[in-house]
Amino acid sequence: VEALVFAEHHDGHLEPAVHQAIRAARDLARGGYVPALILAPHGSAAIEQLRGAGVDRVLAVLDARLAEYSPETYAKVCARVIETLHPDAFLCAHTFQGMDIGPYAAARLGLPLLSNCFGLEVEGDELTAQRKVYGSAWQSRVAVPLGRTVVVTVARRGRGEALHSAPAPVEDLRIDIDALGVRTRTAGAAVADAGEGDITRADVVVGVGRGIRDPSNLTIIDDLAQALGGVVACSRPLVDLDWMPYSRQVGASGHEIAPRVYIACGISGAAQHLAGIRGSQTIIAINKDPNAPIFGLCDLAVVADLFEVVPALTAEARRRSAPARGEDV
Ligand SMILES: Cc1cc2nc3c(=O)[nH]c(=O)nc-3n(C[C@H](O)[C@H](O)[C@H](O)COP(=O)(O)OP(=O)(O)OC[C@H]3O[C@@H](n4cnc5c(N)ncnc54)[C@H](O)[C@@H]3O)c2cc1C
Repeated sequence: VEALVFAEHHDGHLEPAVHQAIRAARDLARGGYVPALILAPHGSAAIEQLRGAGVDRVLAVLDARLAEYSPETYAKVCARVIETLHPDAFLCAHTFQGMDIGPYAAARLGLPLLSNCFGLEVEGDELTAQRKVYGSAWQSRVAVPLGRTVVVTVARRGRGEALHSAPAPVEDLRIDIDALGVRTRTAGAAVADAGEGDITRADVVVGVGRGIRDPSNLTIIDDLAQALGGVVACSRPLVDLDWMPYSRQVGASGHEIAPRVYIACGISGAAQHLAGIRGSQTIIAINKDPNAPIFGLCDLAVVADLFEVVPALTAEARRRSAPARGEDV
């Protein structure tokens, strides 16, 4: 099965989740051909990265108007490419862009859509996949007949390690953007919490829950995250209370994270929270209730008062990262 991968990129770098889509396409191709589609202005550094990322051919739509992401333009260009090339499947990562483009292109062309899927396989003349449902408590298996292009958004799982390959050839695809009837224009884009780091990409995430009691106490969590070079995330009640922005919320109705280390401080471990943290490599939970459900999932359980443990951890992290006495600072 030939799957065309949509290669999302930001600031000249491939979106890490694209690597998972490439792996999924490779599995579907069973040693066969894997092309990837990139929309970019001429000379984007992401094109070179994509060439060496385990694909056999880079199909590039190059236009200065593609420098800024626009859901309508991007989706219409992708739909035109799908219409022209008829791949068996079109795979996007299940990111904000993929969630725009996949459904838009599928609806525009009347094609089947499988969203937020993993474990893609070909069985007979069907494409099958798995989806997490009910806050990841269950998995459902879905199947769509092959024949028309199946549009898939590939679930983000883990950290998206890149494949490496010799540079693939690049082919320019000429798409007449003027002919697409684009009616929207991107007036500007803002990155939420610029400078504070993206919880979905961070290596170390310190999560805080209702156990923090008062927003004025959040400084101890900020301090720990800073000492560890990590970022702060939270459970949903803190967002509902307006103590933290939604961009920090982890869980079923928030964001899925996949850090090397997740430290949950004063978080009980409701199913909806756990749904967002299963991709973490190591989970450390600090909770004063020995029966807190989070202890059923974590790798390291600290049954203690977070107001004692968190500052002590911060002090220890600072001590270890401080240059030894006598060294040049
Ligand atoms: C449709 C739906 C979607 C949802 N989506 C999400 C979601 O995306 N993300 C999410 O997080 N939740 C979500 N929830 C809410 C979820 O069900 C829980 O209510 C929520 O996760 C609880 O947050 P918490 O653990 O911070 O608070 P609590 O459950 O109140 O837990 C606080 C914990 O702190 C501990 N604690 C208190 N004081 C201390 C102390 N001094 N030291 C150490 N520990 C202490 C307590 O023992 C307790 O375990 C959703 C719910 C619904 C219905």
